Formats: sequence, structure tokens, C-alpha cells
Amino acid sequence: MPAGPAVSNVLSFEDARRVVEEHASLIHPNEVESVALLAAAGRVLAKAIVADRDIPPFPRSTRDGYAVRSADVLTVPVALQSIGEIRAGERIENLPGNLETGQAVSIMTGAPVPNGANAVVMVEYTSQNGNRVEINRTVSNGENVVPKGAEARAGRELVARGVRLNEVAIALAASTGKSKVEVYRRPRVAVVTTGDEIVSVDAVPAPTQIRNSNSYSLAVQIQRTGGEPVILPIAPDEPKALRLLIEEGLKSDLLLLTGGVSMGRYDLVEQVLSELKAEFSFTGAKIQPGRPVVFGRCSTGADASHKAGTYFFGLPGNPVSTMVTFELFARPVLEALAGMLPRKLQFVYVKLKSEIRVKPGLTRFLPAILSGEFGDSRVELIPWQGSGDVAATARANCYIVIPLDREQIPVDEFVPVMMR
Ligand code: AMP
Ligand code: MG
Repeated sequence: MPAGPAVSNVLSFEDARRVVEEHASLIHPNEVESVALLAAAGRVLAKAIVADRDIPPFPRSTRDGYAVRSADVLTVPVALQSIGEIRAGERIENLPGNLETGQAVSIMTGAPVPNGANAVVMVEYTSQNGNRVEINRTVSNGENVVPKGAEARAGRELVARGVRLNEVAIALAASTGKSKVEVYRRPRVAVVTTGDEIVSVDAVPAPTQIRNSNSYSLAVQIQRTGGEPVILPIAPDEPKALRLLIEEGLKSDLLLLTGGVSMGRYDLVEQVLSELKAEFSFTGAKIQPGRPVVFGRCSTGADASHKAGTYFFGLPGNPVSTMVTFELFARPVLEALAGMLPRKLQFVYVKLKSEIRVKPGLTRFLPAILSGEFGDSRVELIPWQGSGDVAATARANCYIVIPLDREQIPVDEFVPVMMR
């Protein structure tokens, strides 16, 4: 048996997740760059976006119609004097100074409501005849008008630091005049996949060799989480070569290893990390897939002097275990390195389509299909050959989470689901 870390420390899923979240909460990146708005999608905001003026900057009509004083239309129909027209973008100096009692003004969606008016009657409920307009529907004070500053006052924070920019945040950046935004540098994530049987995609595999897929699935997950993958060569199950690659990988902001963390004679990842004086936070989690997952921190070589150490995960080599343990444990650390605010893992609850029977004792994350539509969603496990079965997982679109104390879950029970 290879010599692993001094103590093995296998945690429940919840405890392992808590440990990871605690470490993540202590990570505070500080390298910032400025990027053009069109290149900012998916980046993490390093400086809050603040309203540079009131939003809306003027009382805005939300309808095409007539701006009126609501007190003038308490009983309808009523005829008012139509004093003109206000278009979207109309200049302040062209607006009537004040709308007087008995007056109405034609107004377009997005146009400024003039002083004196406090509501807009939709055009559908009016008919204009010369300079008279008949109003056929009452309106309450404020109806169809968004007051100046009602959405945000000038100076208010619109998007907080640590938010990953999506189309909504980008819309707010654009509307506050930011053609560039300050974002955090993307963390570099080294990937070392291990195994004597693993060959690269473009090699012709011998009958007992397996093509490397984990480096690629991880690269996708890393990119999707805001990191920049650094794919290192495949490590053989041999301590010297493995050590060199681990040392190389520790130069990145995060190191992900796959394979070599189980109990086999040639599972050397923990042994080599122990030799490098790694601190292990846990060496397993009571989950399936992914039980042998390892998390810790290690400093090496030149880095040792100025860094508290680089976080690493030893993810199990079975491809579905690699994917699931990334989502459960590596993601929060990578998000923190990317500057994102911490968030809790949340599941949605969906009605079970067919009964589940499992052995209790592990929290399971099993590939499943969520189907149906609108208010009639259902979820069921897909048959699979275990955590090496990527083909089955490709037919799934989510994972059902089975609590460790459940042996049987009946049809129609609402079960937690982790979306993919
Ligand atoms: P290990 O965790 O090293 O015991 O590997 C578990 C299983 O995952 C074995 O069947 C490996 O062949 C497979 N495996 C390990 N690494 C990879 C990889 N990079 N790509 C595809 N399969 C892998
Ligand atoms: Mg292996």
C-alpha cells in the first residue's frame, strides 16, 4: 500500500462541503484588469457598478397615450383640451411648462411626463378630435408612469463586486455609460490527469489503454466557472514523474488532479502530496460517485516562501466522479479564486417518476432525466454502469441527490435535483 497522508479523514458530504466553503471564504483575489463591455460576459466584477444618474432620469411614460391629471378623469367619459405631443427623447425645453387642469398631452412610451401630469391614459381608451380628446377610462395617481429615480437613485450600487457578469449586469453597465468594466484576472487552473493506462486523444490506444477524457471535461468545467485551464501532460503511476507534474501544477492558482486517489497499489497522488508536505483537509467524502476525493493545500519550491500554499483537489479518475466532484467541491474554491461572492449549493425539488432503491450510507448524485413541461416536471434515474459510464451520463440532464439515510424513495415524492 502506498503511504498516504498521516490520518485518513473521510467526511460526510455536508461536512466536506462546509470545509471547502470555509476555505473559499478566506480567498480574496486582488489582480484586476479592465475589459471592454462586449468581452466582459462571464467575467467577475471587481468594482461595483453604480448608477451615474437617477434611473429613470425623468418621470417616464410606460404607455402610448395621454398624460393627464388623474383628478380630471375621476368621472368618464370626459373631454380635455389636447395641448400637443411629447415624443421619446423630447427635449426638456420643448415640454409644456406645466399641464393645467382640464388639459391633456399626447405622449409616447419612454417619453418624459410633463410637470402637472401624474398619470397616463392608454391611447386605446381615448379618442382625439381636433384639439379635444375624449378620455374613456379613469386612471389613478401614478398609473403608467415610473417616477424619476424610482428604479435607482444616482449613486446607488446596481451590481455588486463579485458578481459574474450576465446579460442583465452588462445591460446595467451599458446604461450607466461604462464601455469598459473592472474585472478580476481569470485564475489559472492546472490539470494533471494520472494513470499508466491513459493516453492522449490523438494516440492510437492499445486494447487495454484508455483515452484521456478527464482533462477535457475539466477544462470545460473550469472555463464555465471563470477559470483558465492549464492542461499538463498525463502523469504515469510513478512517483518521480508524478511529483514533477504536481510541482509544476502547484504554480497555478489551483491544481486539479484526476485518478490515483483510490486504495490501489499504484494510487500515488496522496503519497506524493504527503512527501511535498501537503496539508490535507479531507481524504474522502461519503458520496457516490466520488468517494475518494481529496482536498488540501500545498506549497512547493520557490512558492513556499511567499504563498500560504496552492489549493489542490485529487479528484477520482472515473470520468463521472471527476465531473461530479468538480461541481460539488472544486467549483466553490475556483469561484472564490475568480473573485465571486460565496453562494450555497442549492437543489431544486422535482417529483419522482419511478421508485429508487439504493444501499444507504452514502449521499448519492446519480445521473437522471428531468422531463415534462410547465407545471408537470418529473425526474427519474437513468440506468448506468457506474461512475465510469459517460455514455449514460450524456443521456442525463441532471443528478438526483439521494440522502445517505434513504434506502427506498417512492414514486411521486419530491426529490432534490442538482441541475447540470
Ligand atoms: P483511478 O481513480 O485512477 O483508479 O481511475 C479510475 C478509473 O477512471 C479507471 O478505470 C481509469 O482508467 C479511469 N480514468 C482515469 N483517468 C482517466 C482519464 N483522464 N480519462 C478517462 N478515464 C480515466
Ligand atoms: Mg489510476
